[in-house]
Amino acid sequence: MDFALSEEHIIFRDQIRNFAETEIGPLVEEAEETGVTPLQLFPKMGKLGYLGVTYPEKYGAAGADKITEMILIEELNKVCAGIAGAVSTTHSGLGIRAINNFGTEEQKQRFLAPAIKGERIAAFALTEPDAGSDAISMRTRAVKDGSDYIINGSKIFISNGTFADIITTACYTSDPKTVKRGQGISLIVVEKGMPGFTARKLHKVGNNSQETAELSFEDVRVPQENLIGVEGQGLTQVLATLKAGRLAYGARATGLAQAAYDIVFKYAHERVQFGKPIASFQANTFKLVDMAISVDIMRLMTYRGAWMSDQGMDFMKEACMVKVFASETLQQLMLNALSIHGGYGYMLEYPIQRLWRDAKMLNITEGTTEMSRLAIARELGIKVG
Ligand SMILES: Cc1cc2nc3c(=O)[nH]c(=O)nc-3n(C[C@H](O)[C@H](O)[C@H](O)COP(=O)(O)OP(=O)(O)OC[C@H]3O[C@@H](n4cnc5c(N)ncnc54)[C@H](O)[C@@H]3O)c2cc1C
Repeated sequence: MDFALSEEHIIFRDQIRNFAETEIGPLVEEAEETGVTPLQLFPKMGKLGYLGVTYPEKYGAAGADKITEMILIEELNKVCAGIAGAVSTTHSGLGIRAINNFGTEEQKQRFLAPAIKGERIAAFALTEPDAGSDAISMRTRAVKDGSDYIINGSKIFISNGTFADIITTACYTSDPKTVKRGQGISLIVVEKGMPGFTARKLHKVGNNSQETAELSFEDVRVPQENLIGVEGQGLTQVLATLKAGRLAYGARATGLAQAAYDIVFKYAHERVQFGKPIASFQANTFKLVDMAISVDIMRLMTYRGAWMSDQGMDFMKEACMVKVFASETLQQLMLNALSIHGGYGYMLEYPIQRLWRDAKMLNITEGTTEMSRLAIARELGIKVG
């Protein structure tokens, strides 16, 4: 058993940390205030090989291992969870993973390679107003018309949806009434500018630097070349996409938690009450210690899952476990971080409140913690009602 990062991992970590602090850091305040994602980061990161790091070198990616991806996600989230979500979780992860895993060579050249360069930005549209956790109750339909599909329906809470060039969209290609539940779903790439496709920006309480949208499809004509893989295999493709994404939540939570710990550590040593730094009061000391322990466990669980993925082992249970543990532990950690700040923690001019707001999203998206618990129960062989 080896718990040390390799020399290459350490070099990569230092590089991405430096990039995040110097190139992303200065953009955070404005992006959070305006709610506009700094799109210039996509080509910049693409040039440096920071988009889709695990995808094959053939398409311009780094062909790196999963541990490298987790390091990247943690470092980006330390600086800004919203921007990290836009460039890594959504674009490099959800948006193009199914194209990489199931797409044709032509689709990889047309969608994956430009996305890795940061020339085309990706999103992933699964959730609908009446189909969230129960995603297979979706109503969006794609009906064959000659060599095209005609798509009608709507999607909600779609990250990067306002500006994405390619939207990996889940829809029924068969009449859901005529197939078994969950069968007949396909993933189709809808492209920005296609007539009938519109996006409306939504306003959130956190992660403001990553734009979120409601999407509408009204008779959107999409060529059949944009169907990913085999028609009707969408559910398998969605589950595979979400499985890898859940692991990344460990890295996202670790990044946010480490950032909160660093802020609180400094604040608690500088703030003086009763003639002493507040870090020296046992109630605060213990909170700081508990935060450090949580960060350590989150990171270890994340690396374990990534290692399993790199060994080609099945990591479904571990990915769900890290998502539940890390995203829930993070909520308490953020409350402690706020408490140590006293009244200042509640003021918008102190950075800790942003981290607290951003953290909440982690136990909602890509399967709520409740749904992840159900998935773990199934993996454990527990009879689920
Ligand atoms: C900021 C943000 C970004 C997002 N980005 C994307 C994106 O890019 N693409 C995308 O497709 N979606 C995206 N989503 C949607 C997200 O995945 C859903 O919000 C999530 O899956 C939950 O669905 P819902 O909101 O409809 O909640 P519901 O499914 O209505 O659930 C409500 C509550 O009931 C619980 N619940 C539901 N069913 C069960 C059950 N069987 N057992 C126990 N508890 C249950 C849930 O856990 C939750 O607590 C995003 C959401 C947010 C907030």
